[in-house]
Amino acid sequence: MYDLASYAVSSKNSRGRHIREKPPLGRSEFQRDRDRIIHSTAFRRLEYKTQVFVNHEGDLFRTRLTHTLEVSQIGRSVARNLRLNEDLVEAIALAHDLGHTPFGHAGQDALNECMKNYGGFEHNLQSLRVVDVLEERYGAFDGLNLCFETREGILKHCTKKNAKSLGDVGERFLANQRPSLEAQLSNLADEIAYNNHDVDDGLRSGLITQEQLEEVVIFSRHLAMTKKQYPKILGRRLIQETVRRMINTLVTDLIKQSTANIASAKLSSLRAVLAAPCLISFSEKIRLEQQELKKFLHNNLYQHYQVTRMSNKAHHTVKTLFNMFSGNTRLLPPKYQAKSYQEKYQAIADYIAGMTDRYAIKEYRRLFIIEEN
Ligand code: MG
Repeated sequence: MYDLASYAVSSKNSRGRHIREKPPLGRSEFQRDRDRIIHSTAFRRLEYKTQVFVNHEGDLFRTRLTHTLEVSQIGRSVARNLRLNEDLVEAIALAHDLGHTPFGHAGQDALNECMKNYGGFEHNLQSLRVVDVLEERYGAFDGLNLCFETREGILKHCTKKNAKSLGDVGERFLANQRPSLEAQLSNLADEIAYNNHDVDDGLRSGLITQEQLEEVVIFSRHLAMTKKQYPKILGRRLIQETVRRMINTLVTDLIKQSTANIASAKLSSLRAVLAAPCLISFSEKIRLEQQELKKFLHNNLYQHYQVTRMSNKAHHTVKTLFNMFSGNTRLLPPKYQAKSYQEKYQAIADYIAGMTDRYAIKEYRRLFIIEEN
């Protein structure tokens, strides 16, 4: 292991776990967090949850799981270059989407609407809830009892109202402070991963075309470089070589700009990170190019009529399940039925949010259709 920077999070300056545990043998506190996340049930479910394309639409599209692995890979490379805690970045990245509903953003929007009068639903908060409360695997505690810094990184955003009820991880939102550089980095690694794989998946699906993308500066610049170096390559190979270069440009830019930001902030400790502005960032040029690409994906891929049709079905499915369970909690499996006596709507939201795409589809059928064998 390389020497960590003085402002990186370490096992020594960590705020620790809610329930005290003996230090792990042969691994760091954050490696232990990572290991707990990988062994969790919610982690295995990521394989069958939508990123943009619903799981059964094709075998080669990203799922939440492969997206998560890409975020972790990008985050770790950057962390190492900045001498930040790679294990912490890995743990945050692997857990960052654990609270996602089935069917991606359409599912989350539907559940949020259903929960409007009961506190709402937000996937960042739900990811925290998964690791703090919902996983049931350890004798001594509910959840995974992760370190403060891992939990803080998982909770990317949160309203001041929610922050008040979250205890330690909510404090920074009220005090208007920044999270660790490792948390800031995980956030941008997420962005690098999804912008690029959505270009790749979007083209693979045929919903967007190379000609359309040639109007986006960052894509056309890298496409031209690829064509110049390899004039003969075509099709998927040309696209993949272009996307690979885009990721490389973003990662290198992020390392370079963040190194400069950190140097000019003259950081000496982790405490100094909290009071400083966000220091992990792209250069202005790349930030604007990324913004243009995001806008393109929003208008042409996420709002494509075929995606919208699927989102609409997803919305309908989640909403209908929610309404059905709220009307009669005896339809819930026993574990959630028992929980519904204390917090009815929260129990229903937890049940639905935990579903994979295909489980939600099956549950919908089980509830509404009498099938003959
Ligand atoms: Mg993500």
